[in-house]
Formats: sequence, structure tokens, C-alpha cells
Amino acid sequence: MVSIILAFVAAAFKPVSVISAAGAAALLCWGACGGKTSQGPCCRRCHADLSQRDGNHCPKCGLLLTPDDIRSGTRHCRRRALMAGSVLLFLSVISFVALQYG
Ligand SMILES: [Zn+2]
Repeated sequence: MVSIILAFVAAAFKPVSVISAAGAAALLCWGACGGKTSQGPCCRRCHADLSQRDGNHCPKCGLLLTPDDIRSGTRHCRRRALMAGSVLLFLSVISFVALQYG
């Protein structure tokens, strides 16, 4: 009887863990891509704002700047989205493992 109930619960919650893992992946991608905070040029390596630079080196990391190393728009990762995605991914993995092997 207990195994039937566990099998029913596992069948009901597996899609939930898969959906939550997909949501976690979306949150992690969204958080890692970040949001644009300015439209000016920035360093590809360290994302420092290059609008006030002197010379051809990045003032923050010292990278010799070529046109390929300069991106338009300063981006910052969305830390709350990264945290929420990490927690959701952890919970979905735990629930999947518990349902699979529990
Ligand atoms: Zn830099």
C-alpha cells in the first residue's frame, strides 16, 4: 500500500521537478546574462566602464584594448536571479533524487 502511494506521489511530482529544473535553468541564464546599466563602452574581460579611459588599456584589468575587446553597454549579473535559480535547481535535484531513489 505504501509503495503504491509512493509510486503515485513520484509519478505526480516528477514533472514538477523537471519543470522546476527548467525554471532554474532559465533563472540562471537570465541572471548570468545580466542587465544593461549603461550604453557606453565597456571592457569585455572585466566589464569596466571605458567611457573615461586614457589610452588603449583597460583602467581596471589592464587589458590592451582592441576593437574586439570593447563591448557596448555595461552589464551586471542579476545576483538575486542567480541565487533564486541556484536554490530552485538544488531543490529540484533533491526532489528528483528523493523521488527516484527514495
Ligand atoms: Zn578590463
